[in-house]
Amino acid sequence: MSIFEVEHQERAHRIIQRALASKRMPHAYLFAGPDGVGKEMLATRLAKTLLCQSPIRRDLPATIADTNEDSKGLDACEKCQDCALVDADTHPDLFLIYRQLNKQHPDSVIRKQKALFLGVEIIRHFLVDRAGTRPNRGKAKVFILREAERMNEAAQNCLLKTLEEPPGATFLIVLTNAADRMLPTTRSRCQQVIFRSLPTEFIKEQLTTLRPDADQVVIDYVAKHAAGSLGAALQQIDDDLFSIKQNWGQQLTKLVASKTAPAPNSLAKPFQEDAKTLGQCALDRDPEMSQTDATRQGLKMMLSVLADFYLDALHKITGNQVPLINADQPKMVDRLIKTHNSQSIISAMRRLSQAEANLSRNANIELTLEAMFIQLAKATGN
Ligand SMILES: [Zn+2]
Repeated sequence: MSIFEVEHQERAHRIIQRALASKRMPHAYLFAGPDGVGKEMLATRLAKTLLCQSPIRRDLPATIADTNEDSKGLDACEKCQDCALVDADTHPDLFLIYRQLNKQHPDSVIRKQKALFLGVEIIRHFLVDRAGTRPNRGKAKVFILREAERMNEAAQNCLLKTLEEPPGATFLIVLTNAADRMLPTTRSRCQQVIFRSLPTEFIKEQLTTLRPDADQVVIDYVAKHAAGSLGAALQQIDDDLFSIKQNWGQQLTKLVASKTAPAPNSLAKPFQEDAKTLGQCALDRDPEMSQTDATRQGLKMMLSVLADFYLDALHKITGNQVPLINADQPKMVDRLIKTHNSQSIISAMRRLSQAEANLSRNANIELTLEAMFIQLAKATGN
């Protein structure tokens, strides 16, 4: 697979190709941007190009080519043994560093820990120590570090020396969805490459290929809801978010249409069961996650789904001609419009984002939800 098959990241390609052409590759890159937009894919293809015995020069796709620069770019040959080893995930000089590696650490105490963070032991044993030895196949060593924002301070400090003076032909590609949560000293020692969200149409195309059994209406919804992340869209299809969001849409319109005063401690209930299901999906994907974090993740998904209903209503009320995210439930959007004016929609959206912030700050879940739903029920403008 060609490096240029990573689409819609033209800026990243240009930065990398300029470095490859100048033969002055920085020893550490920081690929920063949302999850599921191609960071790891491009990192792996770049690693392959660096490890390949005889990289080839390919015509740059028109979207990447700079008019006044070389129209060719460097790519792996796809024919040599190094390319084959990278494809088989068995190249002895390509290392993927991730938090669950603690399960392979020689120290049994570390093996038994929950892999919530990228700890210093992982960075030292799997990265720093290995970076200090010669490449097994002679050419270079490449480390790809996942979820760098999960490194604690000790881990980042341990990495600093390798970032400052990488031994010989050692390259680090550090991936993160939250560069601002990393230490400035770590960030400043890497060349930062910003990845952007993917266009909705591209996500739709990819979903049609990658999830051929999914209904078009489901694809249309998740492509819009996933906010430019193909990875998130795929997960949302696999978790059957679409059915869940249809239920939430109905519950939301019931909530705002209710004329009677709500009984305390009951408003969140119809929403919580599905959020729990989504939390369980997250936990199945990442068993290292704590139960509470999984619950919070399911609830945050619920908040973003509800926010999209309000956003649809706001667009419609203000005459903004954009396609509805919840195009499959136009009646639900209309019911929101019947009970709200633009001001009360905006204040409802504010409540939702406030609740999101509270959940991120580990505030009490029940209180946060109950307070939010009471305010949503009251936040009608009529
Ligand atoms: Zn090759």
